[in-house]
Amino acid sequence: MAAPATSGGAAATAVERLVIENAAIATVDAHDTEYTSGHVVVAGNRIESIGAGPAPEGLEGVVRRVDGTGHLVTPGLVNTHHHFYQWITRGLATDHNLFEWLTALYPTWARLDEPMAYAAAQGSLAMMARGGVTTAMDHHYVFPRGAGDLSGAIIKAASETGVRFTLARGSMDRSEKDGGLPPDFAVETLEGALAATEETVDRYHDASFDSMTQIAVAPCSPFSVSTELLKQGAELARRKGVRLHTHGSETREEEQFCKELFGMGPTDYFASTGWLGDDVWMAHCVHMNDSDIAAFARTGTGVAHCPSSNARLAAGIARVPDMLEAGVPVGLGVDGTASNESGELHTELRNALLINRLGAHREAAMTARQALRLGTHGGARVLGRADQTGSLEPGKLADLVLWKLDTVAHASIADPVTALVFGAAAPVTLSLADGRPVVEDNHLVTVDEDAIARSTRAEARRLARIAAAG
Ligand SMILES: [Zn+2]
Repeated sequence: MAAPATSGGAAATAVERLVIENAAIATVDAHDTEYTSGHVVVAGNRIESIGAGPAPEGLEGVVRRVDGTGHLVTPGLVNTHHHFYQWITRGLATDHNLFEWLTALYPTWARLDEPMAYAAAQGSLAMMARGGVTTAMDHHYVFPRGAGDLSGAIIKAASETGVRFTLARGSMDRSEKDGGLPPDFAVETLEGALAATEETVDRYHDASFDSMTQIAVAPCSPFSVSTELLKQGAELARRKGVRLHTHGSETREEEQFCKELFGMGPTDYFASTGWLGDDVWMAHCVHMNDSDIAAFARTGTGVAHCPSSNARLAAGIARVPDMLEAGVPVGLGVDGTASNESGELHTELRNALLINRLGAHREAAMTARQALRLGTHGGARVLGRADQTGSLEPGKLADLVLWKLDTVAHASIADPVTALVFGAAAPVTLSLADGRPVVEDNHLVTVDEDAIARSTRAEARRLARIAAAG
């Protein structure tokens, strides 16, 4: 819907309202308030009211009424870890662990250019948005020399898709010659990475309540960046008042790498470089001992849990129940689609639940409602946006999804939240980001899905050809 329209009079402001009624609602507020049949009133880009039964009578400026019979309304999903560029290198190195997989793919990734990054971002965003994501993020850390304006291309794609977006401006400066994993030609210099990151923050970061674009400082991982880049990156982020993101404690091989090179495990290494704090979130955190989890809880450091990627790369099972018990903020991530070919977040709700039940806590590991919380409010919290999105409450931004649960896939499942999390990936009848429709009747209305399918295929083939030519 359109932004609030202002007419001539000094106090005359007409707000357009969208009303959803007759739907089950899971608000994911602090009390997990749910309604078996309720209403949501959206005014402009905010949630105005929510509750049981029909919407209040006498509302002015109602431009649309949606009958939510047979549907569940939840907050829009929040993705907290991704690498959009990998959309065009899917299906490669499918039987490798993390270090083998990275080593196999770095030479291809080093040939990325601006049209490829733009198409890959469009594909990644389209797939997530179609599945109910209203807040996306991209951790982009591959910046080949002469590749063009990759950050600008990615931000343009997010803006066109219409979702809220955090670009984690990544970097790598520890190549093979410095004991790191990436080849020498795939990295930036320390000074170059810091300057480009600062420029990206200055140019694009919007700190406002209803911001659609935010930037985080995001050196890639302990095995691909120098200690100095971590330290100076943290100083830069705090000087600018933006968040910090990286990969941490993903695999046993990474733990071994840190012990050999730094004489300590990843969490102690992050502590020594200024990388624990309530402005930091880290992807994976699979290999964490009790004191690592306590350090995350004490400092408010967040975690992006990526269950499908962890399974695909045989990394292990993150101790999410223990993290939640300790008070660690946890969100969900799909991770890059070279290690999670589907790139859908709504299926990660199910995978987080099922994979954690294979761990030590068995059936007590997680409930369906906790999984939904990870994918919504938990994600907003690790992105630093929990005051604005991630739950359905009056005054918060109108980022929400109307899931269709009355087809053969879900209609006979006893409870709507169980249907959404345990069941098949549910179709989206309507999603709103910032009050504006992104999905209608299971199709994106902001961008052309068929055109994106064609351009991603073409760019994937062009990248493969260039990489094969060497
Ligand atoms: Zn990742």
